[in-house]
Amino acid sequence: MQVALTDPNAEPLRESQRQLNRGQAEQLRLLVGYVESFLRELEMTEPELMRTTRGRATAESAAIMNAAEALGASEGHVHTQYQQACFARQHLPQVWGAVRAGDVPVRSLVRVISAAERLVSPVHRERLDVAAADYALTHRPARLNVWLNRHVARTEPDQQLHRCRRSHTERRVWLEHLEDGVSLLHAMLPTLTAEAIKNRLVDVARSPKQDVPYDPCVERPAAETSDAPAEPQSGFDWLGLPSEESTLGPDGGPDGGSGWRSDRSGAAVAAAACPAGPVSGPAGGASLGAGPTPTNREAGDLRTQAQREADLVANWLLNGQTDSRTPINAHVGILIEPETLLDDSDRPAISRNRRHAYPAEMIRRIILSEEHQITWTRVPIPEVRSDPPAATHAPSAEALDPLHRVYQSRFVPKLLRRAIEFRDGTCQVPGCMVAAEHCDIDHQIPWPHGETTAANLWALCRKHHRLKTAGFLDVPHDRPPPTNP
Ligand SMILES: [Zn+2]
Repeated sequence: MQVALTDPNAEPLRESQRQLNRGQAEQLRLLVGYVESFLRELEMTEPELMRTTRGRATAESAAIMNAAEALGASEGHVHTQYQQACFARQHLPQVWGAVRAGDVPVRSLVRVISAAERLVSPVHRERLDVAAADYALTHRPARLNVWLNRHVARTEPDQQLHRCRRSHTERRVWLEHLEDGVSLLHAMLPTLTAEAIKNRLVDVARSPKQDVPYDPCVERPAAETSDAPAEPQSGFDWLGLPSEESTLGPDGGPDGGSGWRSDRSGAAVAAAACPAGPVSGPAGGASLGAGPTPTNREAGDLRTQAQREADLVANWLLNGQTDSRTPINAHVGILIEPETLLDDSDRPAISRNRRHAYPAEMIRRIILSEEHQITWTRVPIPEVRSDPPAATHAPSAEALDPLHRVYQSRFVPKLLRRAIEFRDGTCQVPGCMVAAEHCDIDHQIPWPHGETTAANLWALCRKHHRLKTAGFLDVPHDRPPPTNP
């Protein structure tokens, strides 16, 4: 039995939704119009550039960059919207018309586009357009989606196998950082593999006899020892000032790291290395199992099934061996103020890309804890302040700081590169979130006209670096200093 939901008092809501639909459709239309006129203009002024596919793609990226600024959205999002609008206009005139009339929301259009893109035959796309425009008038996006999936599978069954094979080639792993010190670890895997992994996790975590080591970053219920204030280990000077004789190698190699100055107003930087080798293999699990906190259910492990599954994933991935048995160290960069390390302040530590914050207490516990397999090393400490250095700063120390040095060649030494990664955090184009450690370190004014020195260098992701090279990105003459995290 169908329930009819047509309360006349809800008509103002329906009308507001229609207006919203029309507004969103109009914005898509304007977006396509803007990009097209941008490209037309370049065809007149830059015919050389527009002659090649690569040049046209670069010009389109530049148009999207400007549109994203105007719309206050990410370039990736705007690019997707642009492609969807072009596709809808060309292949789905019926649905596109219904959206522009306000009768179908854009989120329904997006689902129809996704289905139509999976159809190979133009005739099938045409039929889908007609049928979907009708169905979408009376069904909400979620129901429409189910209908679309069925429709596509029935229309071109042979294509499904082909799509599965292609999807398998796109398998990958990526991170999504959430608030409050947790992140999502996504893995796109063949469905059967993903199910097998999940089932194995469930079985091991559910078993009363299986030891599941704690995630090295979480607090264990009975881990009193890790909370006790402890002296940093000897020979492991977190905050020590560089000795007078410490020097920086010309290439800024690893030894140069000790030349970094740490004063109480600067920001300290710590890098955590998680050994992914046999160091923390089965032995690590066993030692954790023998500790004060029970790690199997029979011994009294109080973690939930979900927590045990999550800890198991962390343990397997951190301790899984590479085939060549060569240990691989994964580095995590964190900015910590000296006051925080010294327990004088509770200002949180910040990740190198500025995306997430870690509570001071948690960072101090992790640093001082000897129970987990994360090792910490002292690494360069960049000045992230914009105010001039205090008078107490000895010139010799200043000269050692890679952010103040002028290097003689075009080559950016590793130490300077790392310092700029910490200073910039992300690609320096507004709105771009590519982490600096995945960016190019670019000379704003090309060498040799511009020097190899921090003031002339910045982090640019590969895409924006290319746009700058093509002349679409102005280098500001008076760039504001990077924000102090
Ligand atoms: Zn970028």
